[in-house]
Amino acid sequence: MCKTCKENPVIIIQGNKPLCKGCFMKYFEKKVFWTIRQYNLIDKKDIIAVGVSGGKDSLTLLYLLNKVLTPQKTKFFGLLIDEGIKGYRNITIEDAKKFCKENGIELKIISYKKEFGNTLDEMLKQKKINACALCGVLRRYLINKYARKYGATKIATGHNLDDEAQSILMNQLKGNMAFSAKLGPKTGVLTHDQFIPRIKPLYFLTEKETTTFSKLKNLPVTFIECPNHKDSFRDEVGKMLSNLEAKYPGTKQSVVNSLLQVLPSLAKQFKGQKIGTCKKCKEPAAKDLCKVCELLKR
Ligand code: SF4
Ligand SMILES: [Zn+2]
Ligand SMILES: [Zn+2]
Repeated sequence: MCKTCKENPVIIIQGNKPLCKGCFMKYFEKKVFWTIRQYNLIDKKDIIAVGVSGGKDSLTLLYLLNKVLTPQKTKFFGLLIDEGIKGYRNITIEDAKKFCKENGIELKIISYKKEFGNTLDEMLKQKKINACALCGVLRRYLINKYARKYGATKIATGHNLDDEAQSILMNQLKGNMAFSAKLGPKTGVLTHDQFIPRIKPLYFLTEKETTTFSKLKNLPVTFIECPNHKDSFRDEVGKMLSNLEAKYPGTKQSVVNSLLQVLPSLAKQFKGQKIGTCKKCKEPAAKDLCKVCELLKR
């Protein structure tokens, strides 16, 4: 029975609490709006580029941001990166287009093919390289570049609690604490005038909760996974975390909480990192060339 109103439950949320449809929808929206306020994610004058993939997280995010930003007249638009992954991205793009059209939201689409000359599928055929390692670098680069080009002051992404717990553990397992310093509901350790800060309004909601929300709201989501995901380190860490969560509920939340506890000191430690400008493309870079120009050179 629903903990709050005694109706039939549709989900058991964090903390082992069963909730009915009405109470769950209220809980979900409240938590997102609380995160936005608590962490000062959005200022009225901001222009928000919402990273859209067409999946459940990004369409849930777009739905909620539309609900909160439109009445207060804060500008926002969807920004979709088309990597060119056959049988996957071509499907989710259609979902994103449909949602944006129905809700009158502007959607800008940038493709690897146009920007880099090849789709991700074509690049992977030419070179043996981990798909996600390459794809992640290229996608982050394009999102930042085009969000800035279109005048955005913040980039909102649909990362949820599961994604964050995975990132924290991946960094820990690879000894990349400098990367963890960039996590949290609002990023911004690395400062460079070309870097657009990133915000994660779904930060405290689990994957199961966003999936349930998107289904109950009837968002046009096709539940498919990128064919490259199963070969990734993230997938392996994700499975490990889910196994632990099943045995010890609250594990994912604890991983995220521990990061939040040490984040201020981590941020302090890594704040001094110098970020320069890529000699070739003029985007932010830690070395002479940014990661993308280095990868494309190779
Ligand atoms: S799973 Fe990997 S290859 Fe697929 S979209 Fe995500 S980062 Fe790119
Ligand atoms: Zn209820
Ligand atoms: Zn570059």
